[in-house]
Amino acid sequence: PYEVLVVGGGPAGAAAAVYAARKGIRTGVVAERFGGQTLDTLAIENYISVLETDGPKFAAALEQHVRAYEVEIMNGQRVEQLSPASEPGGLIGVKLANGAELKARSLILSTGARWRNVNVPGEDEYRNRGVAYCPHCDGPLFKGKKVAVIGGGNSGVEAAIDLAGLVQHVTLIEFAEQLRADAVLVRKLESLPNVSIVKHAQTTEIHGDGKKVTALSYTDRGTGKAHTVELAGVFVQIGLVPNTEWLKGTVELSRYGEILVDPRGATSVPGVFAAGDATTVPYKQIIIATGDGAKAALGAFDYLIRGGAA
Ligand code: FAD
Repeated sequence: PYEVLVVGGGPAGAAAAVYAARKGIRTGVVAERFGGQTLDTLAIENYISVLETDGPKFAAALEQHVRAYEVEIMNGQRVEQLSPASEPGGLIGVKLANGAELKARSLILSTGARWRNVNVPGEDEYRNRGVAYCPHCDGPLFKGKKVAVIGGGNSGVEAAIDLAGLVQHVTLIEFAEQLRADAVLVRKLESLPNVSIVKHAQTTEIHGDGKKVTALSYTDRGTGKAHTVELAGVFVQIGLVPNTEWLKGTVELSRYGEILVDPRGATSVPGVFAAGDATTVPYKQIIIATGDGAKAALGAFDYLIRGGAA
């Protein structure tokens, strides 16, 4: 069996694997797509000490760092089921989609998350070419330009407030008749001079010139009238979904499906730790996920040297 088995090969999983392997214990990583969300990222400019890099380069560097240690990487493998240990300190099982079963004394879940898409024409085509999902990451790329934010929940309204300080103008588009964000955020948004709020509107298309985004169309759901706004960027803020569906019924999840963790990364199941975007950790960022992965690995190591006693 593995001493530490990491499920997920994004920044959190890679950091967990390096920290575990450096303790000289048998470590494995099973990942559907090693690199995770960073593979889909264009520029990364906020990983402190790396002034600028791109996603695929960053993902390759993560893998290189893990491979510098004796870690078994099982890439291209999806995990489908977790079986908790039958007694304290016992073996935990995970079942892969290919039918194989792996056993470990401790587990680190770092399966990350995915942004919910609006699913309109232009979204896929212009992803990373004007269509963005992370204001902390990509906001500065739109300095002095016009952008839209789709979604009037807390994340959309926070994104619009944040972007209003950087860009020329923000149009916030909400599907419902009212914004769903907290009143204090809505008041702040309404006080900003360079923000327009469009409610009861359905985004219908993101337009571009073949290279980058140029406009967004929406339909007023009250009047049925179509409108087009010229802009350079569209931030989609309609939810980040943790990749934890397969954990329902075993590990305790929040109402948003995030894995509940304590300050050491421990979950509700003994020997099972978690890190990164799949958990309740606030602010989903690479630097936070890597720090979290290190923390969960140290938490798992502590658990192991105590023989699984709480
Ligand atoms: P992920 O990166 O999501 O990795 C999850 C891993 O788990 C993957 O290997 C995946 O294949 C695997 N996995 C999932 N389910 C299973 C399963 N059932 N079985 C096996 N493996 C599974 N952050 C920044 O700090 N700066 C940026 O500039 C930045 N730009 C971004 C741009 C885009 C387009 C996106 C989408 C995100 C961006 N982020 C950025 C956010 C950042 O990428 C994430 O916060 C970070 O990748 C989270 O790391 P993670 O390891 O928790 O999860």
